[in-house]
Amino acid sequence: MPMTTPTPDTALVNLLGLTRRQMETFFVEQGEKKFRATQVMKWIHAEGCDRFEDMTNLSKALREKLARVAEIRPPGIVYEGESKDGTRKWVLEVEDGSYVETVLIPSDNGQRRTLCVSSQVGCSLDCSFCSTGKQGYQRNLTSAEIIGQVWVATKRGGGLKDSRQRPVTNVVMMGMGEPLLNYDNVVSAMHLMLDDNAYGLSKRRVTLSTSGVVPMIDKLGDDIEVSLAISLHAPNDELRNTLVPLNRKYNIRTLLDACKRYLEKCPSIHAITIEYTLMKDINDQQAHAEALATLLDELPCKINLIPFNPFPNSGYEKPSRNQVMRFQQWLFERGYNAPVRMTRGDDIDAACGQLVGRVKDRTRRQERYIQALSIDAD
Ligand code: SAH
Ligand code: SF4
Repeated sequence: MPMTTPTPDTALVNLLGLTRRQMETFFVEQGEKKFRATQVMKWIHAEGCDRFEDMTNLSKALREKLARVAEIRPPGIVYEGESKDGTRKWVLEVEDGSYVETVLIPSDNGQRRTLCVSSQVGCSLDCSFCSTGKQGYQRNLTSAEIIGQVWVATKRGGGLKDSRQRPVTNVVMMGMGEPLLNYDNVVSAMHLMLDDNAYGLSKRRVTLSTSGVVPMIDKLGDDIEVSLAISLHAPNDELRNTLVPLNRKYNIRTLLDACKRYLEKCPSIHAITIEYTLMKDINDQQAHAEALATLLDELPCKINLIPFNPFPNSGYEKPSRNQVMRFQQWLFERGYNAPVRMTRGDDIDAACGQLVGRVKDRTRRQERYIQALSIDAD
C-alpha cells in the first residue's frame, strides 16, 4: 500500500486543480504558449503523471522551469481497500492532515463504476440524520483536493489508456459536505471531470447532490451542465424542517421551482434525481409515499430510496426490508419506479477498522455513501 504524505509548498502552484482556462492563464503568465495547457492537462489527468520530468513532449528547459514554479500534488493515500463485491475505498489525507473518503462502486452488470466524491471536511448544514452534519463544518476542499479524489481512483484503477475500461465511469458529489456551499472549487473540479483533456465524462454521468441551496442551484445552471440530485427526504415542509434545517430557509416549493428552472437551462439533463432516505416511522408511511407522489407530479424526476444507515446515537432507525418494499410499491402504484439503493462494501470497513482507529471512525460514516451511490445516469 502506498503511503504518501503530501508536503505542501505554498510558493508552488498546484496544477492538479486548474481548469483548462486557468491552466492557459498560468502558461501565458509564464511567457509560454497556451497549448501547453492541453499537453500538461493530458499528462496529469489522462496519464496520471505527477512529475514534470516525465512529461516527455515538453522541452527539458520547460520541465525545469515548471518544477521551479509549480507542482502536481495529489492527496496522500492513507488507506486503500476493496470489498468482496468489488467496491473500492480510499481514505485520503489532504493538506491540513484532514482525511477525506472516496468510494468507487461497481454496478451489478459491471458497466458502471461510480465514484463518490467529497466536497468539504464536515458540513455546516446539520441534517438531523447525517453523521457528517454531526461533526460540524471544518473547511472547504480545494479544487485540487476534489479532483484529486478522481485522480487517485483513476490512477489506482489503471489510468485512462484503455477507453473501454475506464476506472471511473460516473462521479457523484455525495461524499462529505454540501457541494453548493463550496461552489467555485466544486464547479472547477467538475469542469475537469467533463473536459476531454482530463476525464471526458459526459454531463449526465457527473451528478451534484444538494440538500437544497436554492440560489446556488440557479447559478449552477448558468455555469455548467451536470446531473442534479436533490436530498428531499420528506414530502412536506413541517417534516422536512426537522430533517433538513436548510428547509426553513428554502422550502420545498422554492426548491422544486429551482429544479424546474435548472432543467430548462440544461437541455441534456432530462430529469432530476430525488433522494429519499427512509427512516422508520418518520417518513416511511403510506401517507408519505402518497404525498411524495403528488408533490413530484409535475417535476420530471426519478426517485432513489435509501434505507437509513444507522450510526451511534443517531436517534433514527432503518425501516424493515418489508416496509421499504411497501413504500416502493406505493410509489409504483402512483407511477414511480423508485429503485432502492442497498449498502455494499461493508467488509472493507471492518478491514480498515483494524488498520487505524481514527480511520475507522471516519470510514464508518462512509457506509451511507455506498448506499446512495449508484445514482445511475445512462
Ligand atoms: N450534502 C449533500 C451531499 C452529501 S450527502 C446532500 O445532502 O445532498 C449524500 C446523501 O446521503 C444525501 O442524500 C444525504 O441526505 C444522504 N444521507 C446522509 N446521512 C445518511 C444516513 N445516515 N443514511 C442514509 N443516507 C444519508
Ligand atoms: Fe450536510 Fe448533506 Fe449531511 Fe445534510 S446530508 S449535513 S447537507 S452532508
